[in-house]
Amino acid sequence: MHRVTLIPGDGIGPEVTSAVRVVLEAAGAPVEFEAVLSGQEAERQAGTPLPPAVFQSIARTKLVLKGPTYTPFGGNYRVAVERPGPDGKVGRRSYPSVAITLRKELGLFVNLRPIKNYPNVPSRYQDVDIVIFRENSEDLYVGNERQVGDGAAEAIKLITRAASERVARFAYDYMRRVGRRKITIGHKANVLKLTDGLFLKTAQEVGREYSDIVTEQRVVDALCMELVIKPETYDGLLLTNLYGDIVSDLAAGLVGGLGVAPGANIGPDCAMFEAVHGTAPDIAGKDIANPMAMILSAVLMLRYVNETQSADRIEKALCDVLAEKRKVTRDVGGTAGTQAFAHAIAEKLRSA
Ligand code: ATP
Repeated sequence: MHRVTLIPGDGIGPEVTSAVRVVLEAAGAPVEFEAVLSGQEAERQAGTPLPPAVFQSIARTKLVLKGPTYTPFGGNYRVAVERPGPDGKVGRRSYPSVAITLRKELGLFVNLRPIKNYPNVPSRYQDVDIVIFRENSEDLYVGNERQVGDGAAEAIKLITRAASERVARFAYDYMRRVGRRKITIGHKANVLKLTDGLFLKTAQEVGREYSDIVTEQRVVDALCMELVIKPETYDGLLLTNLYGDIVSDLAAGLVGGLGVAPGANIGPDCAMFEAVHGTAPDIAGKDIANPMAMILSAVLMLRYVNETQSADRIEKALCDVLAEKRKVTRDVGGTAGTQAFAHAIAEKLRSA
């Protein structure tokens, strides 16, 4: 039995994570959840969106299934934690969001986002099958900013050889393991010669050790254009943190939107699985959110812990329900609610 820390989160989070529970239970997946409070409700009750109980649970389980958590726009919102750092000493650190805090504090250095077409999910393209590897620990996305006088602000973009090499090695090893053939490194090294230049050079050096995998590179703006013209020609994408964030949403749009894009954050001794989408406050509490992205994130989790059979069964049941088209949510062409979609998958699993 795998114990998993479950963060239902904010907005549509509780609805889509409860859909996951329904599906995993019907599949008989050997998973036991420890639900913990994180996000806006935790902020109200405990004065912080990430109470120590969350880290205590993760220290036991080393596995997290995370629903989206709300991040306010603007202002100087930070999530503070006081706990042992990489050197073992207790220190106080703060980050721009709950997700970034967890990724940084747990050392989850890569964000893995598979993007592919699913049967009957309306989309402008077919034959898209891309895996995005997003560096998760540095670059502009860590939000290291400061005000410079009254009318200016600056952000620090830090890129290191160590973090670039670590994510590149993960990407090449992963591609080799699953039998994929090509990695495209996205960058802006023509302008950001030092930072993106270092990322590109380091990733290319790692790539040279993998003669079975083709390495190519694209300036990130040209990459975006080519992704909307001929997405089926891409296989693995290796990107720094901010470009990875932006290109992930673009790629989700190629296959039917945010409702269908799962994700995994992986570190040396811990992993956290979460959808690409956020809290979607416009549709929260209405039972209309698509639970697919969260269910597919749980499938990634099952594969990570080598529960391949459960993972395959759930993915097949989901595809069967999509193929029938009747019991799916409206963003993928149906009229069913979040829970009805999940129960239809559960029904398939029970009758299989
Ligand atoms: P946040 O600030 O937490 O990122 P957001 O609404 O700005 O929230 P997303 O949650 O990523 O950003 O979603 C953008 C839009 O995509 C939502 O407003 C919603 O209409 C749609 N969307 C996102 N997730 C889903 C889903 N699971 N099912 C259906 N539509 C979704």
